[in-house]
Amino acid sequence: MNQLSDRINNLSTSQTLAMAALARELKAQGKDIISLSLGEPDFNTPDFIKEAAKKAIDENYSTYPPVDGYMELKEAICRKFKRDNNLDYKPSQIVVSTGAKQSLYNIAQVMINDGDEVILPAPYWVSYYEIIKMAGGIPVEVPTTVENDFKITPEQLEAAITPKTKMMWFSSPCNPSGSVYNREELTGLVRVLSKHQQIFVVSDEIYEHINFSGTFCSIASIPGMMDRTITVNGVAKAFAMTGWRIGYIGAPEFIAKACTKMQGQVTSGANSIAQRATIAAVDADPKVLSHMVEAFHKRRDLVVGLMKEIPGIKLNVPEGAFYVFPDVSSLFGKTLRGRTINNAEDLSMYLLSEANVATVTGDAFGNPDCLRLSYATSEEQLTEAIKRIKEALE
Ligand code: PMP
Ligand code: GLU
Repeated sequence: MNQLSDRINNLSTSQTLAMAALARELKAQGKDIISLSLGEPDFNTPDFIKEAAKKAIDENYSTYPPVDGYMELKEAICRKFKRDNNLDYKPSQIVVSTGAKQSLYNIAQVMINDGDEVILPAPYWVSYYEIIKMAGGIPVEVPTTVENDFKITPEQLEAAITPKTKMMWFSSPCNPSGSVYNREELTGLVRVLSKHQQIFVVSDEIYEHINFSGTFCSIASIPGMMDRTITVNGVAKAFAMTGWRIGYIGAPEFIAKACTKMQGQVTSGANSIAQRATIAAVDADPKVLSHMVEAFHKRRDLVVGLMKEIPGIKLNVPEGAFYVFPDVSSLFGKTLRGRTINNAEDLSMYLLSEANVATVTGDAFGNPDCLRLSYATSEEQLTEAIKRIKEALE
């Protein structure tokens, strides 16, 4: 008898984490696996942030923090929003959580009723779909292709809106496509949204600083959007702090209050030491990240250059984040080393066993024609991984 709840039985496992676990397991068995599965910077957390954490331990920040985050941190986050995004949030509009993932979970739980539709431009980040489903929402996917740089048009957005549409969730720079919406493109989407005042937008800006396009625009900064946008951000990616588990939102005050109420019953707030360290991170000039951003940029060029030489792969040039999302559909139906590749899942498993390279299938992100490869690893590893993929596909 299955004694687990329907809720968990209906939940899919995170495919990014599942592939990372499988790659780890195969490595432990002695296989020479190169994992391009998990999106996780391979840098160390900058020293000034580590020092702030050590200081916080010595200063005995060891009791429960305020549920929505320390006031000093919320003030620092407001300064960051002003400095980087020209957004005027007050501390009462900020909620600090255990990673941006929890911020997103909170939002879903406090905003979505059963049957509410949530528009997801596809490809979308893997966990949006399940987080929305868990809250009773209905994800409505809006497909895009590599040819249009995986971005939706205002016409597509308009066509996806129904009287049941409650929200739209998207990330820019996008995980998995690396696409960045510029101000003009966002303004086009806002023009449509302005006709449908009931729709709230979740703008996931966690890759804000890992952006090679030279432009970045928060949708909340476009007139009319501040009161209907929840801006999600965190320190995991830009500051190489994935394990510290701190994310945050800037939102209309009633939404921030609701998220605080939620986490008051669920987590009691985010880790106190990590919060103190995050004050140093968000207060720092983003220039301190330039060595990491430059390294990602160089790797992007390397990976795109090498992958373009592989026949059968179609690629956009990602402008941010640290993933490539090639369309591999022209390989479907082919037989390689005696194995028929029917879909991206087959190809991902084939590459794992034949090339010892771990990738994530595009299905997880709402685009079954693609594979996602993270380039958050060394140039040597990337060069070797793509050489192996090329050989396995010959
Ligand atoms: N949003 C996107 C687009 C991501 O790629 C990730 C990856 N972890 C998250 C949110 C979650 O971030 P965190 O590690 O802060 O929970
Ligand atoms: N965001 C990363 C990724 O997409 C980390 C994994 C996760 O949180 O699911 O790979």
